[in-house]
Amino acid sequence: MTTATVQDTVTSTGSRDESTLAGAALRAMAANPGLRAAFLRSSALRDLFSVPAGRYVVAHDRDGLRDRLALLSAKGYRTGVEYVGEEVTDPAEVEAIVQEYLALIAEAAPGTAEPVQLGFDLSNVGSLISPDLARENTSRILRAAQAKNITVVISMERSGFVDDILKVFHELAPEHPNVGLTLQAHLHRTPEDLDAVAGHGRKVRLVKGVYRESPHVALPRGAELNERYADLAARLLDRGVPLACGTHDAATLSLLDERGLIGRLAEIEMLHGVQPALLRACRTRGVPCRVATVYGENWWLHFLHRLAEHPPNVLTALADMADPGRVRFGEEY
Ligand SMILES: Cc1cc2nc3c(=O)[nH]c(=O)nc-3n(C[C@H](O)[C@H](O)[C@H](O)COP(=O)(O)OP(=O)(O)OC[C@H]3O[C@@H](n4cnc5c(N)ncnc54)[C@H](O)[C@@H]3O)c2cc1C
Repeated sequence: MTTATVQDTVTSTGSRDESTLAGAALRAMAANPGLRAAFLRSSALRDLFSVPAGRYVVAHDRDGLRDRLALLSAKGYRTGVEYVGEEVTDPAEVEAIVQEYLALIAEAAPGTAEPVQLGFDLSNVGSLISPDLARENTSRILRAAQAKNITVVISMERSGFVDDILKVFHELAPEHPNVGLTLQAHLHRTPEDLDAVAGHGRKVRLVKGVYRESPHVALPRGAELNERYADLAARLLDRGVPLACGTHDAATLSLLDERGLIGRLAEIEMLHGVQPALLRACRTRGVPCRVATVYGENWWLHFLHRLAEHPPNVLTALADMADPGRVRFGEEY
């Protein structure tokens, strides 16, 4: 992490309060390739953080995943699964990730009433080698998933990748009814991208956006972003798009409620471990709710992003390290 990157972020958010600074530092750590490489090399680092990361990562492998999904399902939640990873440039590693998704699909029980949803970054399945490879790999996964009635929602990545992701989505959407796309409300371009995406009628997951972006590219967190989020949700719903709102923010959910949008959503979706009590309250109200789970060993970035989004989570992480018994799967749902 360089001081310059942290300062850029602070300037871009226009705030110097301690929580903003802490979030900026954590995002810079997440983006730092040297730290990521150190995590991959060092079992000591992995061991140190595996307990607090366990709040957000459901299992290390497919075997550990099954029981946990079943528990969430039994509590009335839909589930989503991502094999957690980072940007991948090695073709063999890309193919191994594709094989992992194909194995996950092969093991899924056919015809279940509540299909599990899958999701991934295109940079995990080859977009950094070529967008064509990512499209072909995603198409392989989509074909296998469709046979099991499983939807695959493509994640949205940093702003420099958005053109490639949209291109791949536009190519896949006409032939694959089970493809969906994530849109980031914070990007200034999203209101213009929306109509073409909505035109396919495929599932959309609307999120605010997790990446550090310049003010020319994206809005910072705040009331203006929440308003834009609600406006985009309304536009997508008016276009008849099956819409999942991916947010952990009670204020954003209240805004959607005030505008009469909650009852029109396909679902509210939250990342596992972030706001289980809030998701439970939504489910109790009768709104369909999905827990987006991740599993695997490569969870460094996922973990740091959860801390960066809400820096008080750093204290929770330290407390979990001191008392691992605090991390009890599924209890708060
Ligand atoms: C299902 C799902 C899929 C996602 N996929 C993508 C994607 O493809 N691309 C992408 O860029 N981003 C993705 N995100 C992340 C998203 O963009 C946001 O960074 C994240 O949801 C935080 O924004 P927010 O609206 O939840 O809350 P914010 O507006 O960031 O925060 C408002 C309040 O919400 C609560 N809160 C938010 N985050 C946390 C947390 N980690 N722990 C505790 N409380 C919290 C706090 O009370 C906080 O004050 C995804 C999120 C979800 C839920």
